[in-house]
Amino acid sequence: MTPILQHLVEMTGHRDHLRLEASVLTTLLQLGRNMEVRALEFFFSDSQVMVRPRSWSHRGEVISSECEASVDPARGVLTNMPELTECLKEHCEVALRSSPNSHTLWLPVWIEDKAYACLEVTQNKPFTRRERDVIMGVFQVYQNYQNLLDYSERDALTGLLNRKTFEEHFARITTPSNSEFDQLDTGADTPQQWLAVIDIDHFKQVNDVYGHLYGDEVLILVANLLRSSFRAQDRVFRFGGEEFVVLLRSATLEHAAQAFERFRFTVQEHMFPQIGGITVSIGFTSTMDGAPVEVLGRADQALYYAKENGRNQVRYYDLMLSRGEVKSQITHGEIELF
Ligand code: GH3
Ligand code: MG
Ligand code: MG
Repeated sequence: MTPILQHLVEMTGHRDHLRLEASVLTTLLQLGRNMEVRALEFFFSDSQVMVRPRSWSHRGEVISSECEASVDPARGVLTNMPELTECLKEHCEVALRSSPNSHTLWLPVWIEDKAYACLEVTQNKPFTRRERDVIMGVFQVYQNYQNLLDYSERDALTGLLNRKTFEEHFARITTPSNSEFDQLDTGADTPQQWLAVIDIDHFKQVNDVYGHLYGDEVLILVANLLRSSFRAQDRVFRFGGEEFVVLLRSATLEHAAQAFERFRFTVQEHMFPQIGGITVSIGFTSTMDGAPVEVLGRADQALYYAKENGRNQVRYYDLMLSRGEVKSQITHGEIELF
């Protein structure tokens, strides 16, 4: 088999977006010498479209922000890339920027009529017709396959991950990679993973007063605020109706509490068209102990407490437990809840 075919076979063997993305970048890297590749993702922040790298090549290897990078990669506004901005506006297949020593191709990944991500290929000489054809061919196989995967993993209304994918992501972020093992320590200010359940307050009233279409719009806008408030390596799910779950990677308790509080405040300050202001309640806990269902149960208890005590607030389960504000649901390793 030719190397390119071998790579295509490898690429379409993945059932996981990030591995698929790394695999297409690795395939593209084989096509030319001195080539750099990146996968960029788009998101909204302060009414602007922002862009940040999700995977990128470094000395011939592909690195992904979820697996290896412990810091959030640089983010910038999309308008700093005028050729790509124009391409997205016009729904083009490809954008090109050429300067004497650098030539870049951008290939947006269209899912229906939205582009959430884009592949970027850069080299120091102009792309020949043949190089472009091969890159486009590989990209189209990737995009078709990506569309299939995406359909089964994303929530149709908000584009966030759906509940079905939660356990797999949970297992991935709570199983430390080898490099993280060395630093693993359960001390209070050691980075850990956190789980928050976020629920819109009095959402039924939005539907009742303004109708379901406005309700749906609020859900889409809250999803956008979630996307822009959390980092590339965090994971955001729509769990059901107006309930969302965030898996926060590698943060100290202080930073996790700040991130959730910042999100609560962002929602409180946001003006939703027609409706005005809404608020959210948040319960969170560490993911250190227990199966996904137990961790979710703890965050849910904290959320329930927030709902019962005035809404529009963030509650931390472990602190509430130490104050006796909630009771542990687990006795002798059994979960009483279910
Ligand atoms: P609380 O502050 O206690 O959370 O009150 P609430 O009204 O937000 O909670 P409740 O669970 O009573 O109502 C949730 C509502 O969410 C009920 C349901 O009609 C609505 N809902 C669920 N899914 C969707 C959806 O996809 N679109 C719209 N527009 N509404 C939805
Ligand atoms: Mg609600
Ligand atoms: Mg609810």
